[in-house]
Amino acid sequence: MIPARYGATRFPGKLMQDLGGKPVIVRTYEATKDTRLFDEVYVVTDSELIFKEIELNGGKAIMSIKEHDCGTDRIAEAVEDMDVDIVVNVQGDEPFTSKSGLKQVLSVFDGPDADKIDLASLMTEIYDWKEISDPNSVKVIVDKENFALYFSRSPIPYPRDKNAAVQYYKHKGIYAFRKKALLDFYRLPMRPMEAVEKIECIRFLEYGKNIKMAISNIQSIEIDTPDDLIRANKVLKDGNNIVVNNQYRNFPMVPKVVYGRGSFDQLSSILAPQRKDKAPFIYLVDDVFKDNADIIDRMNLRFNDKLIFVSAEEEPKTEQVDTIVKNIKGEFTYSPSGIIGVGGGSVLDLSKAVSIMLTNKGSAADYQGWDLVNTKSIYHVGVPTISGTGAEVSRTTVLMGPEKKLGINSDFTTFDQVLLDPDLTASVPKDQWFYTGMDCFIHCVESLNGTFLNEFSKSYGEKAYDLCKEIFLSDNLSEVESRGKLMMASWHGGMSIAYSQVGVAHAMSYGLSYVLGIKHGIGNCIVFDHLEEYYPEGVRIFKEMKDYHNIKLPQGICNNLTEYQMNTMIDIALSLVPLWENALGDDWKSKITRDKLQDLYLKM
Ligand code: NAD
Ligand code: ZN
Repeated sequence: MIPARYGATRFPGKLMQDLGGKPVIVRTYEATKDTRLFDEVYVVTDSELIFKEIELNGGKAIMSIKEHDCGTDRIAEAVEDMDVDIVVNVQGDEPFTSKSGLKQVLSVFDGPDADKIDLASLMTEIYDWKEISDPNSVKVIVDKENFALYFSRSPIPYPRDKNAAVQYYKHKGIYAFRKKALLDFYRLPMRPMEAVEKIECIRFLEYGKNIKMAISNIQSIEIDTPDDLIRANKVLKDGNNIVVNNQYRNFPMVPKVVYGRGSFDQLSSILAPQRKDKAPFIYLVDDVFKDNADIIDRMNLRFNDKLIFVSAEEEPKTEQVDTIVKNIKGEFTYSPSGIIGVGGGSVLDLSKAVSIMLTNKGSAADYQGWDLVNTKSIYHVGVPTISGTGAEVSRTTVLMGPEKKLGINSDFTTFDQVLLDPDLTASVPKDQWFYTGMDCFIHCVESLNGTFLNEFSKSYGEKAYDLCKEIFLSDNLSEVESRGKLMMASWHGGMSIAYSQVGVAHAMSYGLSYVLGIKHGIGNCIVFDHLEEYYPEGVRIFKEMKDYHNIKLPQGICNNLTEYQMNTMIDIALSLVPLWENALGDDWKSKITRDKLQDLYLKM
């Protein structure tokens, strides 16, 4: 809902001013609609002129019945008789409204504490004391789960101790309301704090509502004065459509990495400075190393450090993460100094998830998705013992949950330290070496052929692609060389998708894995073998590699599926929206159908 009052005090009629050939309000309407985040978009106005202009441009508008003092009342009246769940207000004078801010404010309703939330809003980090003390900028303070404690035009908190670090936040006027919260606001009278601060949303706090805040550092242009309009017109003319600071995502990378044969011996000295008094390091180690005294000795466990062997027989599950976390919390009074994962993609993912869940409440299943983790994980280190998944560099940990197979994708997932010792991969069996290596090759093909590709991803993807061809198709590499190269191919392949996405093979392989328990590496190979239509060149080379190494893939694995199983598999595959968007573009839904997926699955 876009509330639009014609007579703004500071700049009358501003919503009807020309912005690059269209009135400001039409620009705002179109930008909001273009986000495709909403079932319906309406302008709610007191002005015939605005109403007609929106309708003339093919949009939907509603005339307010009563007079309203504020935008919130205006949209509350408009939705009173609508059957809606969540209502988002977009400011009429923000023609460059960006998708990511709106997406963020909506995404809080996907979080584990969604039931508690009455409404959500955004805040931006501010640093400049001038802005912090400016009464025109509304500051907000939050609790540790980012629920708003108070809004004020004063600097809050007051910095009595100038040396204590504190982050100041400025409130941004975008809200997502549950319908009930919005109607309550409309019906309940203003109380003294709202009246004295002149900040609408204080009313929610005064009546005990929970406002969840999301951080968004996007800078938008608000049209408040004629000067703003001149600036906005210039922005449009320069083709620089949206002036946002984070139009490009700010990705975490692994901050520390050591590479080299035998570098595993360095592990304990790398960990030493991270050790906190009495707090143990927890080692999660693939159980293939259970009887490998050499590897265990070299880890050099101290004090109350704990070694937990985990099986990679099955892929990691949310339930398994929850159990490990519960046991660690039960056994130790202090939260661990760190989690060290030693193993393949399965163990690395498990370690990342455990380190997140030691500091975040609830079950790992609550965080499967994009950017749902609120609190920084504990220090965690990854030591791969098989190469290909890129799990050592990625910002995801792929987990099988009760309802879905999906990663916990967050800035806190990425390892704090990685140790790459190619010698650790010497014992990997041949077939497994191929399947996991092909995960890397497929990451490259999917990234390089995807619509999300940029030079950053391409530079990593091309390198890894070439390394894979050398490793899997030439016969002039020694085993030692080949291991070192595959370890780096995995790293680059992972970096290539870090800033982009995988595609068709991964989406379909997740379906196989969910329904049939087929593991990631081999599942990808089974799927990719039939994807000539999407990746002709990649699939041709893959088949060549497969023949070269005499790998026999299982056949007919979907022949005996029930209709229910087939449908579940298709549902899981289709639920991975970003993967399809990357593979086939924005209009992917018109390019891939359930029948098409079923045909493909039946071929495998
Ligand atoms: P894996 O960890 O499942 O291990 C495969 C097999 O190899 C296991 O039996 C394991 O015990 C064995 N193994 C591992 N190291 C060995 C060694 N040095 N010697 C002998 N045997 C060894 O395999 P993977 O392919 O590395 O990982 C697959 C998992 O990674 C899947 O769960 C998948 O979802 C995940 N994955 C994660 C990401 C990410 O970015 N987080 C990316 C791709 C895949
Ligand atoms: Zn993969």
